Amino acid sequence: FPLEFQGAMPILRKLQTAGYEAYYVGGSVRDILLNKPIHDVDIATSAFPAEVKELFHRTIDVGIDHGTVMVITKEATYEVTTFRTESTYQDYRRPDHVEFVRSLKEDLKRRDFTINALAVGIDGTVIDLFDGLEDLRNKVLRAVGNPHERFHEDALRMMRALRFVSHLGFTLEPNTFEAIQEYHSLLAKISVERINVEFVKLMMGSFREAGLRSFVESECYIYCPGLRNYGEALLNFSELRGPAIPTERQAWTLLMVMLDMNITNIRHFMKEWKCSNQLIREVTQMVPALQFRLKYEWDNWTLYQLGRELALSVEYLLYYFDREPNLAKIRLLYQYLPIYSLKDLALKGNEVMEHFDYPRGPWISMTLNVLEQEVVEGKLDNNKEELLVFAEEFLKKEMS
Ligand code: ATP
Ligand code: MG
Repeated sequence: FPLEFQGAMPILRKLQTAGYEAYYVGGSVRDILLNKPIHDVDIATSAFPAEVKELFHRTIDVGIDHGTVMVITKEATYEVTTFRTESTYQDYRRPDHVEFVRSLKEDLKRRDFTINALAVGIDGTVIDLFDGLEDLRNKVLRAVGNPHERFHEDALRMMRALRFVSHLGFTLEPNTFEAIQEYHSLLAKISVERINVEFVKLMMGSFREAGLRSFVESECYIYCPGLRNYGEALLNFSELRGPAIPTERQAWTLLMVMLDMNITNIRHFMKEWKCSNQLIREVTQMVPALQFRLKYEWDNWTLYQLGRELALSVEYLLYYFDREPNLAKIRLLYQYLPIYSLKDLALKGNEVMEHFDYPRGPWISMTLNVLEQEVVEGKLDNNKEELLVFAEEFLKKEMS
């Protein structure tokens, strides 16, 4: 047993001693069998939520309506979820109403793909009711049961399928793929927030070429915000060579460059995707910086405006354009910038105002910005006397 599973062992044992069934389930079982690192250990049990809470001292109701209770141990916290079915679906979304059941089989039946429908008991036996192990071996992504029914029940599963392709490099079983092609338009019923999560994972997988190609070929992209006219561009994106994209902001930046969007369109597009303002701010800075960097070397002013972290983030993206990033050079250039913000300038706004006897106005910040750029570019020393001399010259010209 891997370490992560061992930590949860006492929880499963306690449930069993009390007469309930308990198993490891979901993505962690899949990832362990694939020798991949796991993030969260999910436990499924026949005990109802109230029964789980009675057994353990410290619990938190994280999703009691869905049967999930968080059990807190000294070492870690674990989500324990009651076996359940999701029989009544409305609007092609996951139902808000679930029914708790005592049968593991019923619980595994409602899961999306065979590789996600495996359970492992405390003795290490794998319960494999839908031939998930064979699909794991053959690297096949197959819906549990009738794929048409399953995607019709919950259209988000189509996006999940594509992101698993992108992360695992599995192929879609033909009937599963066909069903996605048939129901792609149902994605319009799913909330943008939930599609966003899956789309970002889709962009960030190690096998994004296969994932994005299926995204286009199944026509799912048509029912994602703002992508309707970008089938061709998405295929170009899919063909970029290079490692898995490390961060979300880099993924959006590459996408925007491949879709050739300008700043106004980026803002609009990412708002439609319900991206955070922070992310939109970063991407609208990174896109022009990458376009600049694809043509020119870094200069002090560009680096200064972008900041160290975003510049490194942009430089890394050269990989995807068959160029070698030079991160060390950015660190060095940045280290030797004369100043890092307007606050570091040896001349302050009030000093400019006092020195020149003009009425308050936009000329003050204008002057400071000119000085700032001159200093950053190394054309002017950052000392008060020199800055004042330069400012005098500048204002003489401006005011005449
Ligand atoms: P990840 O490694 O990204 O967490 P995961 O497979 O664990 O992948 P989760 O969203 O954490 O994905 O879901 C846990 C499990 O719950 C899945 O493995 C699957 O069995 C089930 N599941 C999740 N979402 C759905 C869904 N929309 N329909 C059916 N089953 C689902
Ligand atoms: Mg998970």
